[in-house]
Amino acid sequence: MIAMKNFRVGILGATGVVGQRFIQLLEGHPQFEVAALAASDRSQGKTYAEACKWRLPGDMPDHVKQIVVQPPAPPLDCDFVFSSLPTEIATDAETQFAAAGYPVISNSSSHRMGADIPLLIPEVNPQHIALIDAQRKNRAYESGFIVTNPNCSAIAIVIALAPLHTKFGVASCVVTTMQALSGAGYPGVASLDATDNVIPYIGGEEEKIEAETLKLLGKVGEGIIDDAKMTVSAQCNRVNVTDGHMASIRVKLSQSASLDQVKETLGSFTAEPQELKLHSAPARPVIVRDEVDRPQPRLDRDAEKGMSVTVGRIMPDSVFDFRFVALGHNTIRGAAGAAILNAELLVARGYLSRNHLR
Ligand code: NAP
Repeated sequence: MIAMKNFRVGILGATGVVGQRFIQLLEGHPQFEVAALAASDRSQGKTYAEACKWRLPGDMPDHVKQIVVQPPAPPLDCDFVFSSLPTEIATDAETQFAAAGYPVISNSSSHRMGADIPLLIPEVNPQHIALIDAQRKNRAYESGFIVTNPNCSAIAIVIALAPLHTKFGVASCVVTTMQALSGAGYPGVASLDATDNVIPYIGGEEEKIEAETLKLLGKVGEGIIDDAKMTVSAQCNRVNVTDGHMASIRVKLSQSASLDQVKETLGSFTAEPQELKLHSAPARPVIVRDEVDRPQPRLDRDAEKGMSVTVGRIMPDSVFDFRFVALGHNTIRGAAGAAILNAELLVARGYLSRNHLR
């Protein structure tokens, strides 16, 4: 069990879709307390209650209402920052925070593929945290660093692939996603484009899934990650669902496996966050469902508070070896929840400490 200790956190992009999830998920968190909020100049200088139109079920938590929104630039009165800034803003802002001594736990895509930046899923590649030491050396950061979580579809796909890759080796994989509207932020896709429609294009998404999967399943080399030796092909579609990204996945394995072995390997998967009993870790990172018509976004996205990936339709495939469907909550497991779990692992590993700046 991790020692209870309160860290004061800042949230960059606090008024957005992911920022609001951070605030919701951090309410009552045993280790992290929201101390500072930042957003665009549209919101700066206002209280959070004035700046933010709360769009999640339930009320805006009282303790954030009177916090005055600041620019996303150091200094902020906190121990570390979560970032959910748009990519074009995150690139410089996150670098500035890290250089100023703040750990940055980001879910923006800006730094994910940086050679010395951990792209982290605690259940999949906790050993990639070792890149922080190389990053600090390369960039002359003292107490600061940047850790990222993957793209919101990549995370669900890779959580499902990882146990299979460890046990049988995944040689190749073809993925077709059906991604929720909230993945585009607010207001996101225009209603007249989304209604009665499927849009077979999400800018940059296919490239992200293909590249991030190889890094996530790669091994730590000399201060870099050696990509996993597999091929990944992704096609992405925006569908008329509010939350929950679904992916149809076909895999070719390096070693033969039976259908029962594949189901057992997925359903019994646990890892370091479960052993450490991290606060946001789901008891079952992968939930296998046998019903013929699951997973479904409306029914399964909130499994284990939105932190589990639900896998169903597991069956042999006539072109590849196996096929299945995986579903994850894009703003929880795919964004804010992922970053919070990353921070919990970093606390457990001794990489986060109370800010020397205060
Ligand atoms: P969003 O709803 O559009 O929110 C964007 C946030 O960034 C708002 O707080 C906004 O503040 C702030 N912002 C916008 N322009 C800014 C500027 N010029 N300077 C400072 N702050 C600015 O977007 P989102 O969906 O939360 O996504 C945020 C990030 O997370 C993106 O990088 C996205 O790719 C990533 N992400 C999103 C998801 C998802 O499912 N939505 C999943 C994984 C990763 P104002 O309210 O003041 O404009």
